Amino acid sequence: MSIWGIGILNGLRITMKNMLRGPITVKYPHEKIELPERARWAVQLKLDEDGAHKCTACMACERACPDHIIKIDVTTGEDRSKHIDRWGYELGACMMCGLCVESCSFDAVEMGHDYELATVNVEDLVTALLVDAPAAKPKRKAAAERPAAPAEPAAPAAPVEPAAPTEPADAKEVDGD
Ligand code: SF4
Ligand code: SF4
Repeated sequence: MSIWGIGILNGLRITMKNMLRGPITVKYPHEKIELPERARWAVQLKLDEDGAHKCTACMACERACPDHIIKIDVTTGEDRSKHIDRWGYELGACMMCGLCVESCSFDAVEMGHDYELATVNVEDLVTALLVDAPAAKPKRKAAAERPAAPAEPAAPAAPVEPAAPTEPADAKEVDGD
């Protein structure tokens, strides 16, 4: 069979294979695929088993955000208790890197799975996730959820004594003469 015939047969084989295979896309928005657990969409605050937020107003996420789009306004009382006036988040500028989630030691924030957040009004993309609420009492993440501590740096190696210079073979021969 000529090279052209082989090419046509290969093309037909691929066509048949794709005709018989089921679709790999879904008819969105009528059908939706299940997102993987680690999918990252808008930032949202997590709630505990009693439905209360877990934010202690430590500000670590605000400092960690490379886009500076988390703005937490906190008032500290005379008894040093903290009150969250506003936990602000600008969805429109969020690159969904997840650094705010990683920085939170209190498991208080997560990347949501809601991807249907498009809007025609850009002002809707500046939101407050929490308003006028007392900060939660600090309750650290379970050890298993915390990132592992960095390994201790290895002790520096002992300095190596420089080797004694050896006389070049040629020099010895010259001395012997
Ligand atoms: S969400 Fe977490 S990191 Fe951010 S202020 Fe609250 S407790 Fe701190
Ligand atoms: S996901 Fe990244 S860019 Fe978005 S708020 Fe968190 S740290 Fe900032």
